[in-house]
Amino acid sequence: MKSYDLIVIGTGPGGYHAAIRAAQLGLKVLAVEAGEVGGVCLNVGCIPTKALLHAAETLHHLKVAEGFGLKAKPELDLGRLGAVAGPGGEKASPGGWAPSSRGTGWSSSGASPG
Ligand SMILES: Cc1cc2nc3c(=O)[nH]c(=O)nc-3n(C[C@H](O)[C@H](O)[C@H](O)COP(=O)(O)OP(=O)(O)OC[C@H]3O[C@@H](n4cnc5c(N)ncnc54)[C@H](O)[C@@H]3O)c2cc1C
Repeated sequence: MKSYDLIVIGTGPGGYHAAIRAAQLGLKVLAVEAGEVGGVCLNVGCIPTKALLHAAETLHHLKVAEGFGLKAKPELDLGRLGAVAGPGGEKASPGGWAPSSRGTGWSSSGASPG
């Protein structure tokens, strides 16, 4: 049976920061997640809403660009927008925003990592 110095339950911003910091300080850490790694903030809250806001702002700039002598015909691709702003959007986003799991064992649904 594996043993850990610290088991963090839940990997929202509270959990993953605690797990990563503890691992940085040398503890052997297991983070257990029942849903999506990243919790509300990364999957449905802060990051997705900001991605939607940024897309809306960019669309607005493109729409008024003609007034500045730039011609652009923006088209809304809801599938692509959903891929970037939805759960797991860090994989589709240009920059990526997933928490680093280096030094930390991540486990979904309470299962032990291999
Ligand atoms: C629309 C929206 C926009 C937001 N925008 C911002 C913003 O711009 N800036 C900001 O600072 N905050 C924002 N927030 C708030 C932010 O999302 C929360 O403050 C933050 O997610 C709280 O983090 P947490 O780690 O406490 O909990 P959570 O993010 O809720 O994470 C808890 C995690 O624990 C898991 N869990 C629960 N019980 C168990 C269990 N028994 N076993 C295993 N796993 C379990 C859950 O599945 C979840 O992944 C926003 C929230 C929403 C809804």
